[in-house]
Amino acid sequence: MRTLVTGGTRGIGAAVARRLAADGHDLVLGYARDDAAAGRTAAECRALGVECTTVRADLTTAAGVEEVFAAAGALTGVVNNAGATLHLGALADTPPEVVRATVDLNLTSALLVARSAVLAMGRSRGGSGGVLVNVSSGAATLGSPGEYVHYAAAKAGVDALTLGLAQEVADDGIRVVGVAPGIIDTTIHADAGDPGRVGRVGPRVPLGRAGRVEEVADAVGWLMSDEASYVTGTTLRVAGGR
Ligand code: NAP
Repeated sequence: MRTLVTGGTRGIGAAVARRLAADGHDLVLGYARDDAAAGRTAAECRALGVECTTVRADLTTAAGVEEVFAAAGALTGVVNNAGATLHLGALADTPPEVVRATVDLNLTSALLVARSAVLAMGRSRGGSGGVLVNVSSGAATLGSPGEYVHYAAAKAGVDALTLGLAQEVADDGIRVVGVAPGIIDTTIHADAGDPGRVGRVGPRVPLGRAGRVEEVADAVGWLMSDEASYVTGTTLRVAGGR
């Protein structure tokens, strides 16, 4: 098993990398800027006994997507995880360039990574088949009014990607599935300008707290495993009941 995790060096992606390493996947971890986090996560994965390389490339550029897949080589799994909310606020108060950047990263790049995943893993294209996991968000079905409607709309596009692509490539040996995390304790919230979001929103979730990265990673690990061999075209919500 050899799996690419985009955004696999911090937050949810890093937890996914550690979980997949424990399951015996050799790994390629993509990231954008944070070399120190990449080094740390890769070392943690290697300590679990697998091969792990990192690729620094911006997935919002065509060259970046190409670079990551060229470095990855033959793959049996792709976790399409890189993403960010970038900004919090009502749509009318969100600058147009932020709306574009949010859709570009969370939807267009996810589509291009999925496209490259099919080229890398599709049996009719010389691959050996595999699993693509798209990381969506509970926002896709909640709409996130007042916070980031544009991000929610992009993630709803990711859910449509999972549904459609799964049917398109089912007979090419690829399962396409999604996870939709609710509020998870990572720095994504602080990076978007709201460091208190986990503490504020977590207690309002039915399970009474924000989720941990490992709880999302375990869902991804199961979806990638043979235990989920009849699961495709669906998105599993990991959102504490919300
Ligand atoms: P995070 O902690 O901010 O980590 C994001 C990862 O993506 C980092 O490895 C980052 O690289 C990488 N990345 C960001 N922009 C990139 C780009 N342009 N090109 C390549 N890599 C890029 O985020 P997270 O909270 O773990 O979120 C992971 C995924 O889960 C995202 O798709 C997010 O939308 C989704 N999600 C998160 C939550 C939540 O509450 N945390 C909830 C629902 C869905 P650097 O380290 O180099 O910046």
